[in-house]
Amino acid sequence: MRFYARTRFLFPRSFQLRAFTVCFGAVHLPLIAFCVTQMVVNAWDWQLFLSLLGATLVGTAAGIAGLSALLAPIAHATSLLRAVQRGEPIGPVPTGGEDLVGALLAGVSDAAAETAARIDRLAEAAERDVMTGLRNRRGFMDAIVPLLNDDRSSVVGMIDLDHFKGINDRFGHREGDRVLRAFGERLERGLRRTDLAARWGGEEFAILLPDTDLDEANKIVNRLRVTLNGEGFGVSPNGPVTFSCGLAIVRNYASLTGAMHKADVALYDAKRAGRDRVIACPDAILAE
Ligand code: GH3
Ligand code: MG
Ligand code: MG
Repeated sequence: MRFYARTRFLFPRSFQLRAFTVCFGAVHLPLIAFCVTQMVVNAWDWQLFLSLLGATLVGTAAGIAGLSALLAPIAHATSLLRAVQRGEPIGPVPTGGEDLVGALLAGVSDAAAETAARIDRLAEAAERDVMTGLRNRRGFMDAIVPLLNDDRSSVVGMIDLDHFKGINDRFGHREGDRVLRAFGERLERGLRRTDLAARWGGEEFAILLPDTDLDEANKIVNRLRVTLNGEGFGVSPNGPVTFSCGLAIVRNYASLTGAMHKADVALYDAKRAGRDRVIACPDAILAE
């Protein structure tokens, strides 16, 4: 490190130029020694001098070319590390031998893999609801994009647990949280593998049933409702915990906000009609 630090004044911004300078000096040493000796003994052999000079110049060129090729992986590793720092994806990292360059490239490769995995974990965590493990609102909106790009009819649903406040009031927030987790688990299990479920906020959940018509969606969610009523996953002061749901057709991403609003209206219709039911918004297609 000391030699590195002391020679920094030569080319403070270029390690390569510093290495070339050292190489240049080292290669010229025999020529300098020859010149000094010739001067001291006061005899000058031009033939020997010219052949030494030629060999020195060829040696310098070869030395610099060789050094520059040897330093190339370090320059490459440095640019890869910068990309890792910026969080950019980097392609496959070339492998080196069991030497210093090999260790450096292996380090870059490990750092890139670790950073990419950490970014993936953070991105995944940012899209998940901590309590239920379901997607959160942001995760739902992101995951929905590729599912709504082919103009096929899908169904979006808004679900709200009934009389949930009563669970907190009567049994405490801890029990309320447990019921939310239990419902989230059953919701995901009760839907198809291709369907999406998310905790929209509080005791509200959103679902998307891709490539599905309103009747089919109604059947699927009603089946889930009846199953959950039979299973019983929590108790509210009004009896077993139930949910209400509003459904609406959605054809593409542009109509998603409108469809969610219609599902919301249908949900409140379900609440007004006595809760524990699914209402589909039948005019969804006509109104779009
Ligand atoms: P409704 O049938 O009309 O939906 O009645 P409700 O009691 O379910 O609805 P309301 O909006 O009056 O109450 C929702 C309650 O949900 C109030 C709030 O304290 C509770 N809540 C929201 N988020 C959480 C949570 O993360 N944990 C717990 N334990 N309670 C929550
Ligand atoms: Mg609510
Ligand atoms: Mg509620």
